[in-house]
Amino acid sequence: MKVMKFGGSSVADGPKIAHVVELVRKAREREPVAVVLSAMKGVTDLLLSMARKAESGDPSYREDLSSLTSRQKETLSSLMGDGTQAGAAWDAVSALLEDLSSILHGIELVRECSRRSLDLVASFGERLNCTLVTRYLLSLGERAEYVDAREVVLTDDSFGSAVVQFEETYGRIRERLAGDAIYVVTGFIGATREGVTTTLGRNGSDYSAAIVGAGVGAEEVEIWTDVDGVLSADPRVVPEAFVLEEVSFQEAMELSYFGAKVIHPYTMIPAVERDIPIVIKNTMNPGFPGTRIVKHPKPHPWPITGIASIPGVALINIEGSGMMGVPGIAARVFSALAEAKVNIIMISQASSEHSICVVCRKEEVDRALDALERSLEPERRARIISDFECIRDLEIIAIVGENMRGTPGLAGRLFQAVGERGINVHAIAQGSSERNLSFVVDEERGQEAVRVIHRAFFGR
Ligand code: ADP
Ligand code: ASP
Ligand code: MG
Repeated sequence: MKVMKFGGSSVADGPKIAHVVELVRKAREREPVAVVLSAMKGVTDLLLSMARKAESGDPSYREDLSSLTSRQKETLSSLMGDGTQAGAAWDAVSALLEDLSSILHGIELVRECSRRSLDLVASFGERLNCTLVTRYLLSLGERAEYVDAREVVLTDDSFGSAVVQFEETYGRIRERLAGDAIYVVTGFIGATREGVTTTLGRNGSDYSAAIVGAGVGAEEVEIWTDVDGVLSADPRVVPEAFVLEEVSFQEAMELSYFGAKVIHPYTMIPAVERDIPIVIKNTMNPGFPGTRIVKHPKPHPWPITGIASIPGVALINIEGSGMMGVPGIAARVFSALAEAKVNIIMISQASSEHSICVVCRKEEVDRALDALERSLEPERRARIISDFECIRDLEIIAIVGENMRGTPGLAGRLFQAVGERGINVHAIAQGSSERNLSFVVDEERGQEAVRVIHRAFFGR
């Protein structure tokens, strides 16, 4: 079986959905297919903002709901006209929209939207889209089945980024997708054992596709998107970026972790475990082979494979001459940040043990500072630690590649290129895997730095 996942940009409107369905039908002529779909472009953002508006008592969420309803209606009639099948399809879609409306009204009445409610609201994007696409496939005479991922993807209750219970999930998928229909599976969502709706994190449909692929024992998982594959850098930042023919699972993981949005980093977890190749393909250029993400990629001539970056980060430097040789400070720092639910993206510690620097998202930095001030109060009073230094509006840049291992001189080339441009580097980290080297610069120079590095390593 082949798994084909289409992202929001590939299913943005009626004509795009019709094109995607043609690709699916063509693939189905050759082999069994499971399709994993995201919400239509922009719908998840809209749903989340409607929930927030309802929570704050702002009634304009109702206007957003009617524009969502019109968008669904237009899409449906552009695909199916207005016959009986279209009528039945509309009944199914509007039943979902009514549920959504009741839930939002409930949120408005209680003026409270928990993470649990937010996940339920967010789930409607994928459910609406998959309902519509299944109905369209049926109207074309295909045997299609809607699969609500909440029936199969079992998770814990960490709402917003739920943890998947793999073995049981795989078993359920194998059973549920055992026939010969075209299965249309909702990406992004799952449910707890009690049936409470959860989501796997923003952009999580890629991850869903890999889970489905591992469950059915797919030969390959295809992620269809709006670019030709994994590029050497984000094409919006570096117009000269080029498509990589093959990358390793680890390279894809590192690139996506450091901001290459083309694939969700978790996608590689089931893929590595079951050794299932992931192929990134362009919905608008299906003839192009795309990028294969595999265990052992073909060698390529460049010292690095790609560059990625995360803007909107902040750095906290914890420094003090008394820290030297005092055990347990790092542990206290990390547990205080974990308790405050701050996600640490990068860490660096100088070998003098004189300072520890952590980088997190800008939105989380005040929470991080509060937590650190509380937790390290005794050391502050004893002058073991001086003040925390905090720098906002930064960007992390990472260079990634299997070829970096054991290649001397890379860091020299990197920092020479950046230094010649007068771009200041605030912190540096390199893992001992040597597959990635990351560093922090001012956000306003971030894109320029990425372009300079691209030129230094790829000559373009
Ligand atoms: P989808 O809606 O299909 O899930 P996304 O918007 O999540 O698509 O991901 C595709 C986008 O990722 C591309 O349009 C591109 O701008 C961005 N991107 C960032 N870094 C890279 C990269 N290294 N290679 C390819 N695309 C990248
Ligand atoms: N629709 C979800 C989101 O926007 C999941 C996805 O598109 O992958 O985050
Ligand atoms: Mg995506």
